[in-house]
Amino acid sequence: DHALRSPLLDSLTDAQRAAVCHIEGPLLILAGPGSGKTRVVTHRVAWMLASGIPARQILALTFTNKAADEMRGRLERLAPRQAVWMGTFHRFCARMLRSYAELVGLRENFSIYDTDDSRKILQIALDEEGIDLTHTSPDAIAQAISWAKNNLVTADRYEPRRGHAIGGIVEKVYPTYQKLMLRSSAVDFDDLLVHVAILLKENPEVRRQLDERYRYIMVDEYQDTNLAQYTIVRALSIDHPNLAVTGDPDQSIYGWRGANLSNILEFEKDYPKVKVVRLEQNYRSTKSILHIADQLIRHNIRRKEKDLFTDNPQGNRVRLATFPTQRDEAETIAEEIAHEVRTGKRRPRDFAIFYRTNALSRQIEHALREQVIPYQIVNGLEFYQRKEIKDVLAYLQLVNNPRSDAALLRIINTPTRGIGKSTIAKIQEVARDRAIPLLDAARMAGTISGLAKKSAVAVAKFVAMLDLIGTKATAPVEELVGYVLTETGYREVLENSEAEEDHERLANLEELLTAASEFDLRNPGGAGLEQFLEDSSLVADTDAFESDSDKVTMMTLHAAKGLEFPAVYIVACEEGLLPHERSRRDEEKLEEERRLLFVGITRAMQDLTLTWAQYRMFRGQQAPAVASSFLMELPRHEMELIGGNMGRGSAPRYLAWDEESQLSPEDDDLEFPPREQDALIDAPMYDDVNQLEPEEMQTRKAKESKTFSSGIVTAAD
Ligand code: ATP
Ligand code: MG
Repeated sequence: DHALRSPLLDSLTDAQRAAVCHIEGPLLILAGPGSGKTRVVTHRVAWMLASGIPARQILALTFTNKAADEMRGRLERLAPRQAVWMGTFHRFCARMLRSYAELVGLRENFSIYDTDDSRKILQIALDEEGIDLTHTSPDAIAQAISWAKNNLVTADRYEPRRGHAIGGIVEKVYPTYQKLMLRSSAVDFDDLLVHVAILLKENPEVRRQLDERYRYIMVDEYQDTNLAQYTIVRALSIDHPNLAVTGDPDQSIYGWRGANLSNILEFEKDYPKVKVVRLEQNYRSTKSILHIADQLIRHNIRRKEKDLFTDNPQGNRVRLATFPTQRDEAETIAEEIAHEVRTGKRRPRDFAIFYRTNALSRQIEHALREQVIPYQIVNGLEFYQRKEIKDVLAYLQLVNNPRSDAALLRIINTPTRGIGKSTIAKIQEVARDRAIPLLDAARMAGTISGLAKKSAVAVAKFVAMLDLIGTKATAPVEELVGYVLTETGYREVLENSEAEEDHERLANLEELLTAASEFDLRNPGGAGLEQFLEDSSLVADTDAFESDSDKVTMMTLHAAKGLEFPAVYIVACEEGLLPHERSRRDEEKLEEERRLLFVGITRAMQDLTLTWAQYRMFRGQQAPAVASSFLMELPRHEMELIGGNMGRGSAPRYLAWDEESQLSPEDDDLEFPPREQDALIDAPMYDDVNQLEPEEMQTRKAKESKTFSSGIVTAAD
């Protein structure tokens, strides 16, 4: 029969093939890591195309841009040049909103605010409401609002939970924040989802059209969907319930962002006619690695038990390494990688180093640099978080959407042009009184009472300059960026500066120009400014990932989802870090931390090393660390336990695995006194250890100059 003979299906197992060929009706692919879920999705798309389904009816949703790129790459090889829409939920929603903006009270040219920008608006909202934040922080308020949005609780429906201390504040400030966002014609990341979910709910005709348009929908990593995302795919799969989702409840790691495991656990209830496919064979990892993963995840109580097996070889033992200090940890890993690269055993790209929070990467970066091993830190946001990049983009944002208050506040006096705080406050007052955007208020500078003539002139000049830049709105983006750099004096200021830092800024702006010209090349015919801005605000944390380049990959465990590498190191497996200290008294959070380590472990194909250090810098001090309780859950007798030198010869710093001392290094004498250099090198490292939510960590300022492009990722197939 046709199906059985197609080369497209040859490389699949029976179970995988069953999933690929099930096109009509709901489908749930429930399977552990490395079992081919993502592979099934790509083959399924190719199979649908081969069966004559038009590309435009297919929608494949992923969680990161990188995952989408990877999928596109794999599909390109199976079925070249097909216009199947693949992308993240956020991108999909941004696209929907462009078409239906006015239905939710936005303008078509709305801006997407990143965390920084939305914080500015939140601050204005707090000021307007006259709220005093002595007992809480803007971060906490922002998180509460975000949580509400992910659960589709809109501003008018928000009710504080009893005993929830900041609830009362959120109740006041959330509506004001939304009002200001709409006035700026702007959305935050969560709004993208919420607006679309509500749009689909309140406009049956639009819902019906889109359901008809996207008849075949696939969601990879469905275990990480939150209520808003769930509502969207559900709404698009009513008349045509051809919804296929893949997921692994054991890999659900976004509970902190509102992901709801019940979405996958209850899929069978939502779609009674669902076909369920279970894939049990792992094709990625050795038996040793899979066994360790299995032993760990068994400690979670809230899970359906499932067996993982592989026909892959037994492979090397998983290694568990103890180091006296984080510095030894970093140096030894770097030396080992350098050794394997120099002896030709592996290439840099075969290695990945994972950590719980970005702050942990610095020392390893340093060690890799010393060994002259190329590496990349997967954290695309960093580039766009740089001050100079954000400044220039803010000018572009204003050209595209003159109502954008956050953009205006950002650059009204950058570079400095004599518009002081009190002038800005006066403009804000006018904007508030008349409920108009700041730029409109600024246009009235000449008539604002109490404003010094000099200030009014400075503001008028600023407005005139913006209008001048606005005349270039439809020019190619590269030209527009160049124009902004010149007209605003931004380039000149940096060029005249003696500071090394400013030279680095100039280099980054060059990088932005490069990105703009690449964008122009990809989008001939102009009219690209809005798209360019959208692209740069939706860069996800994994976007700087270039798997073509031969570099060691460093990333957080969260970013590692869905990927695979021949050799993996997971560092800093210590109490308070992994599991994170926030999960200490919360069994559910602890289980999520365990799943996070499980995700990390199951990325490894051949070699896996888990490490921890007995002393780690904490707020500028060497502090004793405690091995992660998760390490205690692993079958250590089946692992290779290593001391200070990772097993190559017996260096004097070698530490035997001694359970008691590992468990409570505080009781130890300072056997390995902290080195002075450590203190110097490490001082700032843990400054931000208190705000360890991955999203916040993404904003850490980078030391390295990063490449800008998001390379197409070579497929794992
Ligand atoms: P994760 O849960 O980690 O996202 P996954 O279930 O999506 O994993 P894939 O990434 O699709 O797994 O597959 C893991 C690896 O196994 C890939 O390298 C893939 O090419 C390979 N693989 C999957 N199925 C097969 C198969 N039938 N034959 C050969 N290789 C396969
Ligand atoms: Mg996958």
